[in-house]
Amino acid sequence: MFKKSPEWNLIIKYLARDKRGRYILDININDYKVPVQKEFKFKDYPHQVSTQENETELRDEVIPELVDLLQDLHLKLFAEEKDGIMVVLQAMDAAGKDEAISYIFSNLNAQGLKTTSFGQPSEEEEKHDYLWRLHRGKPERGEISLLNRSYYEDVIVTRVHDLLGEEHKDQIKDDTDLWKLRYRQINDHERYLEENGFHTIKFFFNMSKDAQRDRLLERMKDPKKNWEFSFNDVKERQHWDDYQEIFQDMINETSTSWAPWYVLPADNPWYARAVITKVMIEALEKINPQFPEFTAEEKAELDKYIEQLENE
Ligand code: AMP
Ligand code: MG
Repeated sequence: MFKKSPEWNLIIKYLARDKRGRYILDININDYKVPVQKEFKFKDYPHQVSTQENETELRDEVIPELVDLLQDLHLKLFAEEKDGIMVVLQAMDAAGKDEAISYIFSNLNAQGLKTTSFGQPSEEEEKHDYLWRLHRGKPERGEISLLNRSYYEDVIVTRVHDLLGEEHKDQIKDDTDLWKLRYRQINDHERYLEENGFHTIKFFFNMSKDAQRDRLLERMKDPKKNWEFSFNDVKERQHWDDYQEIFQDMINETSTSWAPWYVLPADNPWYARAVITKVMIEALEKINPQFPEFTAEEKAELDKYIEQLENE
C-alpha cells in the first residue's frame, strides 16, 4: 500500500493492521477520552500530535480504511432500528466542527444520518427550558444525529456572557450552584437517553489560540472563505481565557461513564477526524447492531414468494 519512502519508518510507527490484515491507524482512543475519576485539565491534552507531517497520508490512506468499517456498522444500526447515537460537537469558532460534519456526511449513508445546528435561541426557544430545543436534534432509533453545538452552549456562552434571564437568578443562591445544577441536569438527561437506547458521544475540538488566529485570518483574507467568517468570531476570541476556563469546568463535570467527552487535538484536522471515526467505530462495535433476520414463519413465506417470482 505504501511505497518505501524516507517517511516509511515514520508512517509505520502510526499504523497497525486489523484482524483482516488491513491498515488502520494505531490510535488509542482512551488517550483522548476524559476519565470520570480524574480531574480534567487542558494541560494534559495536546492541541496537536506528532503525526502532523502525515496529514495527507492520514486523509488518503488510513482514513478510507476506517470509513469502510464505519459504513458497515452504520448500515447495520440503521437496519436494526434499535439504538440511536447522538454526537455532540463543541468548540471555539474555526476549530473544525463544520468540516468534521461534512467529512462524516460525505462518508456515511445520508439515510440514518442527520445534523442540527444550535445558534442563538429564537424567541420561541427562549420561552422554554433549555433542553426543549434539543428534541428535534435527537436521533431516531437507527440514526446517528450530529449536533453542531448543543445544549452545552447553555453552560458555556450563557455563562461567559451572563445571559441568564432574571427568572433563573432567584432560584439559586449563587452563580456556581446554578452551573452545577445544570451539569447535573445534563448528566441525568444523558443517562436517561442511554437507558433508553440512545448513546451520547461528545467531542471537544481542542484548538490552540494560535491555530485559531491563522484560521480566522485565512477566512478573512480569502474571498472564497469569507462566508465562513463572522465578525462575532473575533469578538468571542477576546474572551478566549474565560471560554477555556469554562470549557475545562464543563468537561470535568460532564464526562460520565455513560456519556464521555473526547478532547481532540484539533490543530491536526485529519488526525482529529481519524479519532472521531475510531471513537464512533468502537461505540458501534459495542452496540453490535445486527441485520434483522426473518423468523421461521417469515422464511417459509419468503420461500413461497421466491418460488412464485421464479416461476413467473
Ligand atoms: P455558529 O455555530 O458559528 O453559527 O454560531 C452560533 C452562535 O450562537 C455561537 O456564537 C454560539 O455561541 C451562539 N449560541 C448557541 N447557543 C446559544 C445559546 N443557548 N445562547 C446564546 N447563544 C448561543
Ligand atoms: Mg462560526
